Amino acid sequence: MEDEPLPERHGHFMHEALAEARLALAENEVPVGCVIVHNDTDSILARGRNRTNIEKDATRHAELVAYDALLHANEYDVEAVTTLLRASTLYVTVEPCIMCAYALRLMGLTEVHFGCRNDRFGGCGSVVEVHTTGSTLNTEAASVVSEFYWLLRRSRVLYT
Ligand SMILES: [Zn+2]
Repeated sequence: MEDEPLPERHGHFMHEALAEARLALAENEVPVGCVIVHNDTDSILARGRNRTNIEKDATRHAELVAYDALLHANEYDVEAVTTLLRASTLYVTVEPCIMCAYALRLMGLTEVHFGCRNDRFGGCGSVVEVHTTGSTLNTEAASVVSEFYWLLRRSRVLYT
């Protein structure tokens, strides 16, 4: 499957999200990474990557980790963070799961671009329609996930 030509902005920020996914891979996490980008300034407000194994917490998905980082950076001013998110775009390497897709909507994020689809647990159209999304750098994002599962089969370590 060929990737469609991308607006430069989308490709740039998806590569930033992929860099986070690769860090997660190096930490033996399911390699999903994301960045939250403010639309007016094109600045990265927060970064996140999966931390479910490290924190032994099944809800520590990249998107929620990024949200917590943004809250922390804004001294837990939820109103200020919601205002920022309403004018921001999330770039995430794998389609958000149902939990994250719903949480992102509650947070005020309306624009999400993801790398590859999540056919089992996707919440952006694969399983339920939660967001309008775009698919960016599909092949590269999928290859980071494939790399993880290849390593997983080799290491025989069980992840949930
Ligand atoms: Zn999730």
